[in-house]
Amino acid sequence: MASKDEKITMLHGAGGTIMHDLVKNYVVKAFGGIADSEIPLEAMDDAAVVGDIVFKSDSHAVKPIFFPGGDIGRIAISGTVNDISCLGAQPFALACGLVLEEGLLLSDLERVLASMREACLEAGVGIVTGDTKVVEKGALGGLVMNLSGIGKRTAALDSNLEVVRKKRELKARWTLDSNLAASDKIILTGAIGDHGIAVLSAQQGLKFGSEIRSDVKPLNKMVQKLLGEVGGVVAMKDPTRGGLADALNEWTEKSHVGVLTYEDKIPIHRDVQTACEMLGLDPLEIGNEGKLIIGVVPDKAGEALEFLRQTPQGKEAQIIGEATTQFKGVAMQTLVGGKRIIARPVGDPVPRIC
Ligand code: MG
Repeated sequence: MASKDEKITMLHGAGGTIMHDLVKNYVVKAFGGIADSEIPLEAMDDAAVVGDIVFKSDSHAVKPIFFPGGDIGRIAISGTVNDISCLGAQPFALACGLVLEEGLLLSDLERVLASMREACLEAGVGIVTGDTKVVEKGALGGLVMNLSGIGKRTAALDSNLEVVRKKRELKARWTLDSNLAASDKIILTGAIGDHGIAVLSAQQGLKFGSEIRSDVKPLNKMVQKLLGEVGGVVAMKDPTRGGLADALNEWTEKSHVGVLTYEDKIPIHRDVQTACEMLGLDPLEIGNEGKLIIGVVPDKAGEALEFLRQTPQGKEAQIIGEATTQFKGVAMQTLVGGKRIIARPVGDPVPRIC
């Protein structure tokens, strides 16, 4: 139970251990154990599974609502579509709840809605229901929204799991955080840090050399093609708030394996690296909105990598590491040849990035 004077801080919404504890100790505690679902709330995976439907809800409060490379609407569509995709499902219907702040320019709302339409067309999935509320002028920054969605099993997911099962045992029917096993390779689909730094630059009015643009995009088409045409994928996750460091640690905790990753394999754009050095930020802890980490059985990793590099969303993909039973947690082989522990961050260093 919370003590009388404990209050919510910005860190409670920043990914990482503090948000994780809030969700686990309050939200899951309140709602856990009621619903009958294959992948329940307690699993704290990217989405839940009810029957053969994958179900996900996400709220968005990015500040400012427009930033280089995207806006709140594009994040909302991409975030929900990508979380549903992480379990191997194809999203097929979305719901959008808008909370608008008094004083928001109608032309800004129009721009956000047009961007959402574009992202829906890119993903091939539409909004079928929703709700609109208006609140007095305050701290919303114009608008916030909730985006929920449902996805379904596909033939591509089934054929992917068949490929896995030819290589090793796997009971799960979905690509879950808990599926990683020793020797599985980990692919990162592109460079990290672009989104968080793009939003930070818009928040602070900073310029870092050439403009850094968010990577925000829906990834469902790339995922379904990979599952259907290559296969061998056991787990997928989008490294959003808390970045790669948080996502890899979540996998190690849920799969009970260690992860060894190689610093020289992790793609980071030069401008992002420079910005992080100037600001004292670790790019591993910064959120992304258009990247996935993908756990693949070892025999299929090379083929999966080549396949991803042929797609527009996975051009810069790399195999960044592998699962191991040699140790627990996440370790990184550094450029100079040493090893360092990658701890789960307390929270994303950039506030309100999604
Ligand atoms: Mg996710």
